[in-house]
Formats: sequence, structure tokens, C-alpha cells
Amino acid sequence: MAISKKLQEQMQRSSWIRKMFEEAERLKKERGEEAIVDLSLGNPIAEPPDELLASLKSAVIDSPPGTHRYMNNAGYPETRKAVATLVSSEQGVQIGENNILMTCGAAGAMNVTLKALLDPGDEVIILAPFFVEYKFYADNHGGVAKVVESDEDFQPNAARFEEAITDKTKAVIINNPNNPTGVVYSVEAVRALTQVLTKAAQRVGHPIYLISDEVYRHMVYDNAEVAGIFKDYPDAIITTSCSKDLGLAGERIGYIAINPRMDIAAQLLSACVTTNRTLGFVNANALMQRAVRNCLDARVDMDFYAKNRDILLDALDAAGLHVVRPGGAFFVFPKCPKEEPDDVSYCAKLLEKGIIAVPASGFGRPGHIRLSYSVDRATMERAAKMFRSL
Ligand code: PLP
Repeated sequence: MAISKKLQEQMQRSSWIRKMFEEAERLKKERGEEAIVDLSLGNPIAEPPDELLASLKSAVIDSPPGTHRYMNNAGYPETRKAVATLVSSEQGVQIGENNILMTCGAAGAMNVTLKALLDPGDEVIILAPFFVEYKFYADNHGGVAKVVESDEDFQPNAARFEEAITDKTKAVIINNPNNPTGVVYSVEAVRALTQVLTKAAQRVGHPIYLISDEVYRHMVYDNAEVAGIFKDYPDAIITTSCSKDLGLAGERIGYIAINPRMDIAAQLLSACVTTNRTLGFVNANALMQRAVRNCLDARVDMDFYAKNRDILLDALDAAGLHVVRPGGAFFVFPKCPKEEPDDVSYCAKLLEKGIIAVPASGFGRPGHIRLSYSVDRATMERAAKMFRSL
């Protein structure tokens, strides 16, 4: 077989997802589309805000010569400046355009960063439950992902991080607000984590880079506060995108923000410029860089997601499922019921009832399922009815 052994293994490990979808397709054919609700996908459903669409139109119409050429691999200076202004206000630290690199989404941002930082065998600590791709991203660049468990309420546990750090630890990835749980990390928990990392870096005698995946930073409910990290931790990097908050997932536009207080801030930026090129991204989408720079503070309709969240939470409550109330993103992460504690069998049971959910074993926290409420309202209402009649 010509496919690499490692890839064959990776594909084999995720073959159960394909089986689940095949089963869902079979049921749709058997019972009709309406009888099945798919809550398995993290595809942002809210349309981009009007402001963004208007900016995109004028970026297309106003295309002076040179507009569609390559640019500096870091991105357009005007876009990087606009992003720096936004990140400065959120982090409370003055950031310049030279601390920003535009990327092909947050996935691009994470790969560019890890490639710039990792040597073979370096450890990357990730917090369970985690976004499944992190293990692949670390592995892509010779890193070894090491999993640390979060608490019962999915908050990071600083003491467990402390135990997990060895002299091979190069980076720690957190995701706040979190996919798959929807939980927003408390300001105290994030501060405790940065304190532990500061001490641990002294203990091991080299920096430990904190990479914060903040794709859901602007998607919070009930005025939840998403902690800044740049003030407390110089060796911090934010990787994020406009995929969720501007509804632009398919357009592949994101960025890396490097804490200007980091000793190697300038070197890391130039390393990321190189990896952006050598990984084959070259530069972030030019048209999108021009479209987003005037409306970085615009948002998709968050009331739509909030209403879906409430409909689903009420239904899960009626079904007797235990849930840690999500403060952000568009996921809920219920615990499996006592009578069916295995997440894979519970998902199979839900599928029989018409609900497609994702078993949380794949996210590193068995005994739970992930439900996405990024679905149209009619689907959400039908799903709620199904949960109520479980
Ligand atoms: N990080 C998390 C936690 C995500 O949920 C996603 C997408 O679902 C990504 C990163 C990738 O985002 P992007 O589409 O901007 O690459």
C-alpha cells in the first residue's frame, strides 16, 4: 500500500466516525431526512454579518492593480495593524503589527506556530477534553502530545499541569472557550495555570510556550469573561480565526498574535513567516484580509446561537442528562446517563432514536457526548423534542 503507515493508522483510528455517518445515511434513507437530526458537526451556521458582506463586496469592486498578487508572507500591514488594535484592547498589552501574522484559519495558525517551535520529541501538553486535531498538529511537526485531564467541570487544573511538565515540555495548548465542552475557563483558573507555567519554566530551565486557541473568544453568552494571557505570561501566543465569529470558516482567514513581551517575539514572528511559506500556505487569503480588516469587531447573530443553546439545555434537562452549562462556542457536553455510561454505545442508542451525537472518547473524555447546536432552528426544535421523549 502506497499510503504512509502512520496515515493508515490515523485513518483506521477514526474509521468509527465514518461508520457512524454511514449508519446515519442509512437511517435517513429508511425513515426520511426529517427523522434524523445531526448534532455532530462544528460547522458555524450563522451567516456573516452584513457589515462583513458589504466590506467584502467593496474589496472585490475596489481592486487596484497589484491587489491579487502575493504579499509579504505575514500579510498586509493594514490588516495586521487592525488585528493588533483588537488584540491590544482584549489583552491589555500594546501590540504592534509586527506581533501579528495572518494565516489560513486557526488550523493554519496552529501548524505554523508548532512548526516554528518544535524539535523532534518535544512534548506538547494538551488539556482533555481537547479539539481532536491537536494531536495531529503536534505530530505533524515531530511533537508528542501529552494529555492532562481537566477537572469535573472541565476547568484546567494547574496542579496536574505542574506534574505533567518535564524538561521535554516545549508548549502547552489551551482552548478557551472550549470545543468540545463549550466551557469558558475561569479567570482564576487561567491565572493559576500561568503561575504554574512560570514556575515550571524556571524549574526546567527553558521557556514553555503557552498557545491559546481562541477561535470562540467572541462567541460567549451571559457576558462571560474570556481571560487575557499576555499580561501574566510573556511566552504566550494566540492562534485564532474569523471562522466562527464572522461566519467565514470556508474562507480560511485567521491570525497568530505573539506576545510582544516574549524574549524571542521578533524571532518567532520571522520563524512563522518562514513556516507559513514552507508549509505551503504562503500567505493568508488576500481578499479576505482586505474584507475583514474594517470589521474585526462585527459578529454573527449571537442571539441565534444563544436561543438554540437554551432550547437544547432545557431539553437535556428534561431528559435528565447532566450538563456543565456552556458559556461559549456552540457545543454542549452532557454526561452519559448512569444506565448507559459508555459513550459509544450511548451514541448508537441515540442514533436509533434519530439523534446524531459524537462520543467523547475521541475528545479524550469518555462517558460524555458532544452535541453541536450550530443547526437551523427547525432542526434544533426537532432535536429538543427527541431528547424530551427519550
Ligand atoms: N480550534 C478549534 C477549537 C476549533 O473548533 C476549530 C474548528 O472547528 C479550529 C481550531 C479550526 O478553525 P479554523 O477553521 O479557523 O481553522
